[in-house]
Amino acid sequence: MALLSRYGDKAKLIAGGTDLLVDMKNEKINPQYLISLMKITGLSYIAEEGDVLRIGATTTLRELEESQIIEKRYGLISKAVKCLGTVQIRNMATIGGNICNAVPSADLPPALVALNATLKIVGPNGERTMPLEDFFAGVKKTKLSVGELLKEIIVERPPARSGTAFIKLSRTAEDLAIVNVAVRITLNEDDTCREARIVIGGGVGPTLIRSREAEKLLLGKKMEEELVKRAAEVACTGFSCRPTSIRASPEYKAEVGRVLVKRALLEALKKAGGVVEDDERN
Ligand SMILES: Cc1cc2nc3c(=O)[nH]c(=O)nc-3n(C[C@H](O)[C@H](O)[C@H](O)COP(=O)(O)OP(=O)(O)OC[C@H]3O[C@@H](n4cnc5c(N)ncnc54)[C@H](O)[C@@H]3O)c2cc1C
Repeated sequence: MALLSRYGDKAKLIAGGTDLLVDMKNEKINPQYLISLMKITGLSYIAEEGDVLRIGATTTLRELEESQIIEKRYGLISKAVKCLGTVQIRNMATIGGNICNAVPSADLPPALVALNATLKIVGPNGERTMPLEDFFAGVKKTKLSVGELLKEIIVERPPARSGTAFIKLSRTAEDLAIVNVAVRITLNEDDTCREARIVIGGGVGPTLIRSREAEKLLLGKKMEEELVKRAAEVACTGFSCRPTSIRASPEYKAEVGRVLVKRALLEALKKAGGVVEDDERN
C-alpha cells in the first residue's frame, strides 16, 4: 500500500503477469514501476467458512482448478477455470488479475457474478466491499480508486435446489471467448423458478451483461422449453459489441448467444433437479 501511494499512476500492480506483460510488450502501457503481489503470502488462499467461500486475490487459477472444495461445492467456478487458457497460463494467472484486467471476454467474472460474488477491496482509507457486478466501468476499467487493490473474492454457497452451468465458445481451446454464458437457477419445491441469474460475456458489450429482464421472465414459472427459449432471446437482445471485434460479428454473437443461454439454462435446470425436455437439436 505504501509503494502504491508513493508511486501512484507511475506504478502498476503485477500478479501472474499473463495480461500485464502482454500489454507491456505490445506497448499499450509503459509503467515506470511494477509492484508485485506474488510474495504476499496472505493474499493466496481458498477458505471455506460455513456457507461462505473466501478466495485470496493472488490465488492462481491452477490452485482453483485443483481445489476439492471448489470442484465439489462451487462447480460453476471449476467449470469456468477449466475453460480458461492452458495449464501453463493457469499456473501463473490469478483470479484477481482475471477480474482486475476488466476485459469483457474474461471467463471467471461471468461465473462469479452468476454466483453473486462480492469483492473485498483494500486501500489507503481501509477496506470496502462491492458486488462484483458493480465493479466494471468499461473495457479495461474498474471502480478501483488510485492506491486500492483487490484483496479477496467472497462467494456464498448456492442454496438447495440450485443448478449452475458455464458454456464458452472460442476459436481455439486456449483463446478468449467469442461468447461465454454463466447461469445459476434455484427452484421452489413445486419446481417453479425461485431465482435466476443469467450472465453473458465475450465482448458482447464494454462489460459483461447480466440480463435482469430475461431472469424476470422465468421467476415463479415452470421452466418449460418455450419459456427458456424466450428468456434466451431476451437475454441476447441489444448487445453492443464492436462491429470490429476480431473474434466474431455482433450478429454472430447474438445468434450463438441465444443457443448457449438456452443450453445453459436447461443444463442448470437439470442439475437443480427440475424436469428437462431434452432436445439435442437445440
Ligand atoms: C495465451 C493466453 C491465453 C489466455 N486465455 C484466457 C482465457 O481463455 N480466458 C480468460 O479469461 N483469460 C485468458 N487469458 C488472460 C489472462 O491469463 C487472465 O486474465 C489472468 O487471470 C490474468 O491474471 P494475472 O495474475 O496474470 O494478471 P496480471 O497480468 O498480473 O494483471 C492483470 C491486471 O490486473 C491488475 N491486477 C492484478 N491483480 C490485482 C489485484 N489484486 N488488485 C488490483 N489490480 C490487480 C494488474 O495491475 C493488471 O492491470 C489468457 C492469456 C494468455 C497470455
